[in-house]
Amino acid sequence: MEIEVSRRKFLQGTVAMSVVGGTAATVTNLFSSGHGAAAKPGTITNENTKTGSGKGHDVATLCEMCVNKCAALARVENGIVTKLNPNPMFPKSKNMLCARGNAGIQALYDPDRLKFPMVRVGEKGEGKFKRVTWDEAYNAILNGTDKFPGLAKILDEEKDNRSSMLFCAGEGMAEHTFKQFFQAFGSANWLNHASICLQTVASGYGVTIGAYPQADLDNADYVIMAGANRAEAIVTPDTMDLFKRTKGKGAKMVCIDPRFTNTAAKADKWLAINPGTDLALVLALTYVTLDENLQDNAYIKKYFKDYDAYRESVLSNKYTPEWAEKITNIKAKEIYAMAREFAAAAPKAVYYPGRRSTFAKNDFQLRRAMAIFQSLHGAIDCKGGLIFGDKIKLAGHDGLEPLYAKAQARGIVKKENRQEGEAGYDDCAVVSGGGSWIGWRNRYIEDKMPYNVRGMFCYKHNPMQNMPNTKKTAQMLKKMELVVTIDTMPSDTVMYADVVLPECTYLERTDPVKTFGGVEPSIAVRNKVVDPMFETKPVMDIMKGLTTKISKPLFEISKKYDEDVQEQIEDDGEETTYEEFDLTLPFLHSQEELNHHAVAAYPGAAEALHHGGVFYPKMEKSFKQVSANVYQYYKENEKAYSVAGGKPKTASGKIECNIKSLAKKGIDPMPVWRDEYEFSVPAGKFKLLTGRHAQFTQSGTSNNAMLRDLMPENFVWINKRVAAEKGIKFADMVEVSSSTGKTQLKAYPTEKIAPNQIFFIHGFGEESSSLTWAYKNGGNDNAVIEDVIEPVYGAAAMHETNVEIRKV
Ligand code: SF4
Repeated sequence: MEIEVSRRKFLQGTVAMSVVGGTAATVTNLFSSGHGAAAKPGTITNENTKTGSGKGHDVATLCEMCVNKCAALARVENGIVTKLNPNPMFPKSKNMLCARGNAGIQALYDPDRLKFPMVRVGEKGEGKFKRVTWDEAYNAILNGTDKFPGLAKILDEEKDNRSSMLFCAGEGMAEHTFKQFFQAFGSANWLNHASICLQTVASGYGVTIGAYPQADLDNADYVIMAGANRAEAIVTPDTMDLFKRTKGKGAKMVCIDPRFTNTAAKADKWLAINPGTDLALVLALTYVTLDENLQDNAYIKKYFKDYDAYRESVLSNKYTPEWAEKITNIKAKEIYAMAREFAAAAPKAVYYPGRRSTFAKNDFQLRRAMAIFQSLHGAIDCKGGLIFGDKIKLAGHDGLEPLYAKAQARGIVKKENRQEGEAGYDDCAVVSGGGSWIGWRNRYIEDKMPYNVRGMFCYKHNPMQNMPNTKKTAQMLKKMELVVTIDTMPSDTVMYADVVLPECTYLERTDPVKTFGGVEPSIAVRNKVVDPMFETKPVMDIMKGLTTKISKPLFEISKKYDEDVQEQIEDDGEETTYEEFDLTLPFLHSQEELNHHAVAAYPGAAEALHHGGVFYPKMEKSFKQVSANVYQYYKENEKAYSVAGGKPKTASGKIECNIKSLAKKGIDPMPVWRDEYEFSVPAGKFKLLTGRHAQFTQSGTSNNAMLRDLMPENFVWINKRVAAEKGIKFADMVEVSSSTGKTQLKAYPTEKIAPNQIFFIHGFGEESSSLTWAYKNGGNDNAVIEDVIEPVYGAAAMHETNVEIRKV
């Protein structure tokens, strides 16, 4: 089987699918069914289809090629998805589908995708599996094979300690469905992507102003875009709207980045900063604001708590622009100018909150300082500033969270004899809902868990690629006795699985309906476009099948060890008692039924979502096309620019600039600079920077042939003069190494990066040979990034590694 996509047509924006019968290609498809046959509608046939000429219909869906969830209309002809078009109805995506979104069609027709359940037959990590039926896969999870133990043995030996299984998941609309399984199962060990993503940003803003806000880039007159590469990392409609207004067309944007990125090129000014020193910059901007009395005193009076203490801290510590210049490498006069220009534009001014990973160990304090700086100018919950927006409420549905007496608390280690002012845990001060991924992993491989953890379920998540220190992640996966992965692609992590459960792609399933808050709140849904191909299933159906198999046998184990359960059975009988432990309960209804229920309070919503994918109040009256590609969703006076007149969403209703309770946990109650935050690189080494690219979403899209056409591999940026000294020319193969490991990729000598730094894009260099296009393609940053743990939430600090580089 071969699937061929015309690159030329793709670039014209007419993604025509040409589906042809079995020819050559360099497809090393370990997981091919061998039959060349697919399932039901959506079946790949020998017919060619041409977009727009066949009889077809459109299905409203939501993109899953990145986190943004833009609305799309999938064109279906003869059971084949031939084109993804933007859906103009959705206020969030405003009739836009980026290159990644267009290439979603390849996620569906990728010949390498997982096609049927499999069970490991080789050594762990070897990637040798045999195809099995769904029932055999569920049975292997419950009872094991000669290669690995099943849940029944593990839970019996661990005396019904449900926390002996770890559950982890990546971001996605069906993450909630998988999490219901985790909750019903009764483990305390849940890890998600937060601590390798937005944890410190979301929490920093959360504790300071009460929520992680959106930025009203449409209306801001002045934007400081620091550590956020919008033109490359994520190209959404608000990115485009912002860049339409820069360079003298309405808004001034200053880009702060160690590298000269495409965002820098689109900005009015670019200031190169030393990596990890943004906190010093924000403190200096705050100093100028306070010293020159540029703040919004009326707002401060109404909404600040402990303003005087923060003012005193910033001024007495003398966080002057001259002080910051030495640390950040940004000229003092530029800092003065920025602070004054921001104040002049406020409240239509934005210090962009950023939507990416933790860079440095001080990231939590950086985000707090940014939130406070923004608030000093009263630019909160207002047009052109940071906004909270509104949200349309959805009805919930019943879940299941039985109490297992033997289930241990989360696998963390509390500090013994902790004094007030010390962090509460061995590796961080606070444990968030998503936990500290690298903290947990390291504790596990170092045998520091308070009890045995012996297996894991991993949903839509690729920790082998996504977590710093790949070697340690491999060690963790090898040590786990039972690894179950649910995924669409044979990722590096799937190679370490004992049981592989193939999920269908986003175009083959209906996901939980979602409410999208903002200035123009709406509800949107991902409708199933075509039936699942091969033997893949939506996670809802997978959970239904799995829980049907394991629920009763696992209850038998609880009966054996749990005295409360035994007593309850004596009182109420087994059948009644089991009802509280019946793992199938959250999965009794179809996703469509649950979605219908969620929006039942809004007349016409279910129908609108089914047909157009989007619903919001009064949409029939207010939606209209204004010009060629501009639409109106809400009338201007009905937009939620402000929901509480600028009031913060914290419990106190105030801007929290001095949180004394943090001090009890060893965290600075106010953002301050510490010497250990200084940027330094030993002679002969380079600070490794990593980042995203507009056409790739981490490792999730690395095997997408359409996107690979746009950027075949990642190159390492190295300063041109340094490269010349080292005899490194463009496209020379180089090795990047650290104390953690090494990786090889081609060189890109450039003036766009400082002499003591190098950069390459995350998400390349996969080791799974079942990924035809991604296998050993480019370099893997996480093979080199050291596992430096940010001290507050235990997030992975991605820009703290110094590396060596040599030509190979
Ligand atoms: S920004 Fe692009 S990849 Fe992300 S959801 Fe929108 S269309 Fe999809």
